[in-house]
Amino acid sequence: MSEKSFATSLSCIDGRVQLPMINWIKEKYSVDFVDTITAPGIDKVIFDGNIESIKKSVIISISNHKSSHIVISGHFGCAGNHVSENEHFIHIKKSVDIVNSWNLDADVVGVWIDENFAPHLI
Ligand SMILES: [Zn+2]
Repeated sequence: MSEKSFATSLSCIDGRVQLPMINWIKEKYSVDFVDTITAPGIDKVIFDGNIESIKKSVIISISNHKSSHIVISGHFGCAGNHVSENEHFIHIKKSVDIVNSWNLDADVVGVWIDENFAPHLI
């Protein structure tokens, strides 16, 4: 009897990023399912500290599904956070720091999704 394993993706609402992130996370962490929490330009939303609803969702994923990996992504051509790649990196890294500060029992990483919609750990 094996319990299904989960990880958690915090990504943009953009339909181009969902499958690449889910596939990348399943492969990297060998999990069965990926809980996906979305907001337009989520790296900027967390960077700006608008975390109430996102935090609630993350805590459900961690406590109910025992997710042990949280992946925060930003992507090329984001309509919700229309800034340079460098600014995205700043937003993603700060978002990782913010989510780490919640002291959840999970590993938190940041990912950049490039113009070919390929994810890269940053
Ligand atoms: Zn976006």
